[in-house]
Amino acid sequence: MEFVLGTFCRIDLYGSENSQLYDRLFSRLAELERILSANRADSELSALNSTAALRAISVSPELRTVLERALFFAEASGGAFDPTVGPLVQLWGIGEKTPRIPSADEIQAALDMINWRDLELQADGGVFLRRPGMAVDVGAIAKGYAADELVKILREKKVPQALIDLGGNIYVWGAKKDNTPWRIGIQNPLDERGSYVGIVETQSISMVTSGVYERFFIGEDAVRYHHIFALSGTGTDKPGYPVNNGLLSVTVAAPSSMDADALSTTCFALGYEKGCALAEAAGVKAIFIFADKTIRGSAGALDTFTLIDTSFRIE
Ligand code: FAD
Ligand code: MG
Repeated sequence: MEFVLGTFCRIDLYGSENSQLYDRLFSRLAELERILSANRADSELSALNSTAALRAISVSPELRTVLERALFFAEASGGAFDPTVGPLVQLWGIGEKTPRIPSADEIQAALDMINWRDLELQADGGVFLRRPGMAVDVGAIAKGYAADELVKILREKKVPQALIDLGGNIYVWGAKKDNTPWRIGIQNPLDERGSYVGIVETQSISMVTSGVYERFFIGEDAVRYHHIFALSGTGTDKPGYPVNNGLLSVTVAAPSSMDADALSTTCFALGYEKGCALAEAAGVKAIFIFADKTIRGSAGALDTFTLIDTSFRIE
């Protein structure tokens, strides 16, 4: 277990305990942090943000891949997912030392700088942020990309079985020795860590949860302000404020952790109906947990789900 990507990252290798391999996996994570972090002034992402409205820069294949996929989900979600959300993330400071509720004017000013259509990926490899003040934040997708990058190494090294947990962004790799499926708990979003609403049985797959319990602060008005923001495409929610649609968490299972990560955030932002439609169109499974303690799934998502906490109920 190491602290990287702003969270505790755990990697368990089974059948090939090998300290060199652990080192290689964690150094890959550290390398990706130096590329993709919005929290470090010396990252490649921060370098990109500093060129907004000035010039295009060429970026690493890693950053390019994440930006391409982020733009795909921005378009697919009608802008509910938007990698140019940076100004809003910085303004609220949720997860930072001094989060606060911004004024309506500040929120409007941040929203004016957010639009994925102004993030230009040029054919020659350049990336250009068209408007002043724009800032890319890939916090909703980059941990998934990092998990996929670790799986590439596991595949190359022929590791038979492994568990990766990048702060709740889980990848179970390979089959267990006796071929029984992995059992992955879905966090109770109303409770402290380690207590589960239910268990999903699965093989080689990523499971990623986005929820109100990951990063939040309680305002002086006793409201819980969490870190997933409603944007223009989000529907009835107030743009610029944390999504407020009755959901506590969304868990997405997919072979690509990058897609599972992006889709868990996107389905959360879109809410149940639109989120379900998007998950089904993408061929992945999504489990939605609501504040009224009901649980719903996209097609087939609850087939392998076992409820443990019976104060919740499946709808
Ligand atoms: P997700 O639901 O996957 O993502 C939520 C995050 O996405 C928000 O925190 C915000 O950043 C962004 N977001 C909010 N609304 C939207 C929207 N509508 N569309 C698109 N994106 C949105 N944290 C630290 O405290 N310190 C660090 O040094 C640090 N370094 C990091 C480095 C890397 C490379 C990465 C990937 C993350 C790092 N983090 C760090 C954590 C990061 O700031 C986010 O909190 C985290 O990625 C959120 O992941 P999640 O799975 O909890 O939530
Ligand atoms: Mg996500």
